This record gives sequence, C-alpha cells and structure tokens, in this order.
Amino acid sequence: MKDIYVTSPLLPPLEEFIPYLEKIWEKKFLTNGGEWHQQLEKELADYLGVEHLCLFANGTLALLTALQALRITGEVITTPYSFVATSHSLLWNGLTPVFADIDPVTCNIDPDKIEALITPATSAILPVHCYGIPCNVDKIQTIADAWGLKVIYDAAHAFGVKKNNHSILNCGDLSILSFHATKVFNTFEGGAIICPDARMKQRIDYLKNFGFAGETTVVAPGINAKMNEVQAAFGLVQLGHIDHALARRAEIYHRYCEWLRDIPGIGTFSVTDDVEWNHAYFPIRVESTFPVSRDWLYDALKAQNIYSRRYFYPLISSFSMYRHLPSASAASLPVASDVAEKILCLPIYPDLTLEDQARVVNIIREQVGLTQVDKVA
Ligand SMILES: *Cc1c(COP(=O)(O)O)cnc(C)c1O
Repeated sequence: MKDIYVTSPLLPPLEEFIPYLEKIWEKKFLTNGGEWHQQLEKELADYLGVEHLCLFANGTLALLTALQALRITGEVITTPYSFVATSHSLLWNGLTPVFADIDPVTCNIDPDKIEALITPATSAILPVHCYGIPCNVDKIQTIADAWGLKVIYDAAHAFGVKKNNHSILNCGDLSILSFHATKVFNTFEGGAIICPDARMKQRIDYLKNFGFAGETTVVAPGINAKMNEVQAAFGLVQLGHIDHALARRAEIYHRYCEWLRDIPGIGTFSVTDDVEWNHAYFPIRVESTFPVSRDWLYDALKAQNIYSRRYFYPLISSFSMYRHLPSASAASLPVASDVAEKILCLPIYPDLTLEDQARVVNIIREQVGLTQVDKVA
C-alpha cells in the first residue's frame, strides 16, 4: 500500500526552474544579496501585503536574529505548544523562556495567562500562530503596550494568513516565517523576518551578514544567515504556484470537515469569518468520547502506511533543557498538557488525491462503525 505522509512538499515543474539555474551559472553570483534575492524580497512583500521583508537561510536563524535585532533580554513569555525551535531560539540567545498556558480552542497562547507571568526581567512575548490560526493579536498588543514589552510572532505556519483583509504578519514588532520543505511555501530551506520600517530592515540585513555595513565596517556581532541565490530563484518560481496550492489546501480542508462531521468524539478546527486561513495543517482533536485514544488512532493509521503526526507532543516544556523551569510544570499548563494528548495532524498537501484522503478518513470512520466515504463522491 502506498505511503501517505502528513505533508508532501510543493514543487513546481522542474523546467520552470532550469532557466534560473542557467542564469546563475552564467553570472556566477551565488549569494550575498544577489539579483534573485532582491527580487524575491520585493515580490514576497507585495504578495503577502507587508512593508519590508528580510530573507533568511531558514526560519530558526530568522528567529535568532529577530531576538537580536530587538535587543531582547532576560525573560520571554512564550507558548509550550509549538515546534522546539521557538524556545530553542531563546536559549541560544541566553534568554529564559517563561511558558504560558494556551487557549483550548485556538491552541495559541492564552492572553489571559500572560500578565501573571510578567516580572521585572520580562522584555518580550513570543507567541506562535499555531497551525496558521491567528493569535488574539489585539489582546496581546494591549498587554505588551501596558507593560512595555516587545512582541515577536513565530509565524512559521502563517504564510499568507489574513485578518480583516490585512496580513497577520504585520502584527507585533517583528514576525518570522519558515520556508522549510514541510511548510505551505518552501524554498527547500528558508525563512524571513517581516518588519515595519526600513531602519529595522537595515539593521536585520547587517545582522544576517556578520554585521557588515560596508567593506571594512562591522557594526554588530552578526551571524551568517543569508538566503542564497538558488533558494531565492526557487522561491520566485514557487510564488507562481502558491495561489493554486492554497486553493487546493482549502478544498482538502472542506472535504475533511464534511467527511468527519458525523463522527462523535472527533473535533476539527475552523477560523472566524474575518480570517483568511492557509490550511497549513489539518489537526483533529480525538476526544475521550471517541472509542479509541489518539495514540491508538495514530498507530491504526500507521499500520495502513498513513503517517499522521502528533503536532505538538510532547510539549516543549517537558524536554530536559526546559523542564526545570518553574513555568514548565504540567500543573501550571493544564490546557496545553491536555491538548498535547488529543491532537493528531492528518495529511494535507496540494496534491493529496481524493482517493488517498478517503483512505485516511475511512480508517477513522471504521473505529465508530460508520459507513465508508466514497472516493468518487
Ligand atoms: C518550522 C518551524 C520553525 C523553524 O523553521 P525552520 O525553517 O525549519 O528553521 C520555527 N517555529 C515553528 C513553529 C515551526 O513550525
């Protein structure tokens, strides 16, 4: 039986990429802010509806650099329900993560849990738009303004997401994107920082290139985090296909919702009417009223060569480098601890076929003895 993975990378027709490679070979300009790099920064900013964008070699380097760019110190309030890179970026900057519990509906940081965690050492909030579903950005900003905190959004999942027709990436002080192979928009590996003003973009551009501000001038202890020309050229080709990819994701999302609607104990996610979602993931909630546990279902799918993923289990706060922190105890994170035991992300990607989607759904329907869905429906 054919393997079905949780995702499969968006790849354009190879022949569209070849002319870009030929041009690179001809010009021999491989990196350091070349032509494709500059063009992709412009085209992505236009496409996403943001003012300035700085390309990076990957999302983690973008996160590390965003924290440096804002000179964040001390403690940072963040979510335990994310990919480890979110908190790792704090440790790599010598910062202390402080975990706040999450909202049971969105799985994003619960703004009502933030204020109690603020101390004189707190300098920033690092929320995640988990699964591409927007955080409660208004409440988070109100708290940040009241306490003089910076807000950096880990928007690795939120490519193209809008709220009230405005990009969610314009919220907070900075947002970071990931263009990893598994994300909605990929450049094999890659990432970006979205920033509101040209001065900040300049600082970030120095920081991602060793701090060089000229041939012999170094203005900061920068890092090497630049995106190269092959990645950037590939991104330009990908941009031509992203609208179709997003439309396919939406189609697959709606089909899943339709096919799972009558199953007791299986919950799906949705967004409010003011949000344009990217359907980056298809998480389901396996409630205690479902006849088998989340892990049992995960194994049942795996036995049929379907590789769903438990994003995000275990919680970041339970890993050895975090669990000693006072905010990391499961008792102080009851919602996140509960959600981490219940969520399963089902396969979703632009070229997931109807037949394969039906295979996934029918294994879930089988558990409750419901009729099978028809792949030619
Ligand atoms: C993918 C991801 C990252 C890291 O991005 P890379 O490009 O893989 O370095 C960071 N945060 C979250 C939430 C992610 O999902």
